[in-house]
Amino acid sequence: MPIATVDPATGETLKTFEPLDDAGVERRLAAAHAAFGQYRTSAFSERARLLNRAADLLEQDNATIAETMTAEMGKPIKAARAEAAKCVKAMRWYAERAEDLLADEHPAQADVEDSGATRAIVRYRPLGVVLAVMPWNFPLWQVVRFAAPALMAGNVGLLKHASNVPQTALYLEDLFKRAGFPDGCFQTLLIGSGAVENILRDERVAAATLTGSEPAGRSVASTAGDEIKKTVLELGGSDPYLVLPSADIERAAATAVTARVQNNGQSCIAAKRFIVHADVYDAFRERFVAGMRELTVGDPASEETDVGPLSTEQGRTDLEELVDDALAKGATALCGGQRPKEQERGWYYSPTVLADVTPQMRIHKEEAFGPVATLYRVADLDEALALANDTPFGLSSNVWTRDDTDIERCVRDLQAGGVFFNGMTASHPGLPFGGVKRSGYGRELAGHGIREFCNATTVWYG
Ligand code: NAP
Repeated sequence: MPIATVDPATGETLKTFEPLDDAGVERRLAAAHAAFGQYRTSAFSERARLLNRAADLLEQDNATIAETMTAEMGKPIKAARAEAAKCVKAMRWYAERAEDLLADEHPAQADVEDSGATRAIVRYRPLGVVLAVMPWNFPLWQVVRFAAPALMAGNVGLLKHASNVPQTALYLEDLFKRAGFPDGCFQTLLIGSGAVENILRDERVAAATLTGSEPAGRSVASTAGDEIKKTVLELGGSDPYLVLPSADIERAAATAVTARVQNNGQSCIAAKRFIVHADVYDAFRERFVAGMRELTVGDPASEETDVGPLSTEQGRTDLEELVDDALAKGATALCGGQRPKEQERGWYYSPTVLADVTPQMRIHKEEAFGPVATLYRVADLDEALALANDTPFGLSSNVWTRDDTDIERCVRDLQAGGVFFNGMTASHPGLPFGGVKRSGYGRELAGHGIREFCNATTVWYG
């Protein structure tokens, strides 16, 4: 994949970039390694000052970086501004709390004495240079949710961003530089995915985090495993959205539309499979399909747009193939099911709801990365849970019910990294984020996220 900005609304190549050569990669690795030697000893207060400065600069840049993101990957401009604002919030959150989150831990006195110590503590020390391989779908947020805790912990970052968002990638390097982080603390590597393995094998790189697809995760985790290096993987999802008899159907249906089409349907935590109890199926279907039909599809730079184009031509082809496979095997398109007629250029796809989906269809098990929902009718909660868990993924899940017994069963039985009741899954700096099964491992955000790239050091005093 060339490193380039290609406007998804028109298919036009706006800017291309030369990938870094070997000497350029080497210079950055050396700079990162040297930076860590100093930066790891800096005080939390100094790191917080720098990160707060980065947050202030990003706040000032909101409008321009939002335009860049929209031009590079097609998210509606309103959503791009909201993404930049969320990054500011996460930076300030970690700047304020990192020192407390990484404070020394004190094991129980009885255990300290039993170990023969006079005193013992656990200290969280940084690991070193962390390589971050990131996707295009939230090109600012995915990076910041790694970088803010990593930098506050005393690590330094090397970013290999997706090849279709180079301008956002370069902006991020510049942002941390302008904020005053020492040279080498946060650098962008403009490289293709084929260059990742050698960098990860370099002894100056301590660990890696990857957000992206399962094949990319497998590749990076295999290399890291071979080198015995820590990884965090945030991979795909096909989150279930259960609607049970006691649900508020109006709200459940309205939220379902947003949960499915946010970010043009290209979100790992978008609800993708809508599993509805027979008692409320017709009422939900009617409102949900109406909501999907009413969405404004069009130019992502317009304030009126709800759903813009898919980010890449390949992404649209993959989505079309999933839908066409389902239709050929007997699924029914309650709306959409094809490209919109109004848009002659760009990689648009109509908001789509598919019913009569069976396990023989690829979309039953594969992730639909675009505005396409599958709708299932179930007889009871047992069937709903079985269907919800009948997926290789386990990122998050959503349940609409007012029944306490149903709530407890869902918390106990849903195989996912999150269970969100009467709302849609969303990330927040203070709540851990991550999945199980093929959705990956490890956690980002909150205290869990900042400790992933730390060495929990046992300090024992005789
Ligand atoms: P992708 O192809 O896996 O790309 C993600 C990143 O990995 C890019 O920087 C890409 O570089 C790189 N990459 C690809 N193959 C690689 C390899 N073999 N070795 C090293 N690096 C490699 O992902 P995508 O399809 O663009 O993004 C969508 C996927 O990401 C979906 O499955 C989505 O659910 C998932 N995702 C997960 C989360 C989460 O938090 N769990 C969040 C967002 C997205 P190039 O661009 O140069 O190929």
